[in-house]
Amino acid sequence: MVQFDIITLFPRIFESPLQESIIKKAQQKGLINIKVHNLRDYTQDKHRTADDSPYGGGAGMVMKVEPIVKAVEAVKAASKKTRTILTTPQGTVFDQETAQSLSIYDQVLIICGRYEGVDERVLCFVDEEISVGDYVLTGGEIPALLIVDSIARLVPGVVGDRACVLEDTFSNSLLKYPQYTRPSKFRKFAVPDVLISGDHKKVKQWRKAEAIKKTLRRRPDLLKKAALDKEECEIINKIKKTERLELNNEYN
Ligand code: SAM
Repeated sequence: MVQFDIITLFPRIFESPLQESIIKKAQQKGLINIKVHNLRDYTQDKHRTADDSPYGGGAGMVMKVEPIVKAVEAVKAASKKTRTILTTPQGTVFDQETAQSLSIYDQVLIICGRYEGVDERVLCFVDEEISVGDYVLTGGEIPALLIVDSIARLVPGVVGDRACVLEDTFSNSLLKYPQYTRPSKFRKFAVPDVLISGDHKKVKQWRKAEAIKKTLRRRPDLLKKAALDKEECEIINKIKKTERLELNNEYN
């Protein structure tokens, strides 16, 4: 069971996204537990102040260090293997590998920033700073949801069919092969014959080749990380020959 704890100034943002579909069921089944904590509960003054103007002047407000650290220390379970994360556009960009690495913890604690971000001293109390991409959002709540969702689906039992997770895009540094469902023909677009041939071996080969082709065309950077077997290397060479794609020397 993975325990997620989210520290935020806006707890209501989480109400609907965490109460739908797979994430809702995962909580009901006790596979994950998600608690949202209102940062204002850890403030010290009667106005429940969580932010202040920046030292040295400048625009915007900065989130105060004391309430955040107080919240982290209150929420952190001493008996659990915990990872404390700060959401920030200045962090390491989140990817499937990071999701995998976080899925081994008993407790994942996520701090959502707002305004101009947090007092730099908060960094002394976190294990990891995570960005969800090179753009700036208004707060860390959407990044927190994204992080929870991607880790949760790696927890055994959360996604009904484990094969779906193992075959997902990025799971072996490849994009997923193209998928189709009924009808077999829509307007002038037909499903590839091989998928309705009933020949499982051919389907498997086709999927492997298409996954590699797609990755080569869209995300050649991923292939650098892929542990390819002999058959996959041969597929790449074949595509390379036919499509004259320029590849990194490693694959020659
Ligand atoms: N002034 C900050 C800067 O330039 O780095 C940006 C602050 S942003 C407006 C407010 C909060 O949103 C951040 O503290 C962080 O928690 C969250 N946030 C914004 N963009 C993010 C991103 N790409 N990844 C993760 N968190 C982000």
